[in-house]
Amino acid sequence: MAKQSYAVIGLGRFGTSIASKLIEADQEVLGIDINEDRVEDGKLLVTHAVVLDSTEEESLKTVGIRNFDYVIVAIGNDMQASILTVLILKEMGVKQVIAKALNKRHGQVLTKVGADWVVHPERDMGERVAHHLLTPNVLNYIELSKEYNIEEIIVPKSMTRKSLRDLDLRAQYNVNVIAILSSENLIISPFPEHLIQDGDKLVVIGHRDDLNKFANIK
Ligand code: ATP
Repeated sequence: MAKQSYAVIGLGRFGTSIASKLIEADQEVLGIDINEDRVEDGKLLVTHAVVLDSTEEESLKTVGIRNFDYVIVAIGNDMQASILTVLILKEMGVKQVIAKALNKRHGQVLTKVGADWVVHPERDMGERVAHHLLTPNVLNYIELSKEYNIEEIIVPKSMTRKSLRDLDLRAQYNVNVIAILSSENLIISPFPEHLIQDGDKLVVIGHRDDLNKFANIK
């Protein structure tokens, strides 16, 4: 991936975990926090780290915040600071502002003041845990709309050593296989002759109800 520049404001658990993933992917990351200790710890992790209060426009100017491709506002508990920061960033012309919301109301306000993407980590993770508890064979999913999902599903025992053609999942379950994860290999658009192995995971697209039925086959 081409190098992009990111600024992460707030080096708590959420901000730090975003920053480390970006650094792992060889991206440039500026860490910002009002708390000196957090910045000291962050220095080991990010490209640069500075102490500043993100609710002060002048301070943000000194680090050239406008020039970053993405600015992530990872301040949570201080809602006022998070909202004010997003407002200032958008007024300064930052193109992509991603902000963490503590609750629904906070999220709505962040959108109103211009956040381009609002994330609700606790809510989203809670939903994922519940989804996995209800359908343990589903390892991962993406909601495409209220009705359609892409899901990564453990292959039911009854389907191993059969080909996709034999299984004919489209006709039988109304779902489409878009990829197979087999040990370390990812097979995109598998051929109909492809034999399913024990332990494979299927990446399937379909209506939630159909996926649910499919994921509950033994
Ligand atoms: P997390 O849930 O991510 O672990 P936390 O519980 O440590 O975070 P939060 O209130 O969510 O605390 O704040 C995250 C970070 O944002 C903290 O390190 C805090 O010092 C920093 N922060 C708060 N206000 C500002 C501000 N105005 N400018 C810069 N950084 C700030």
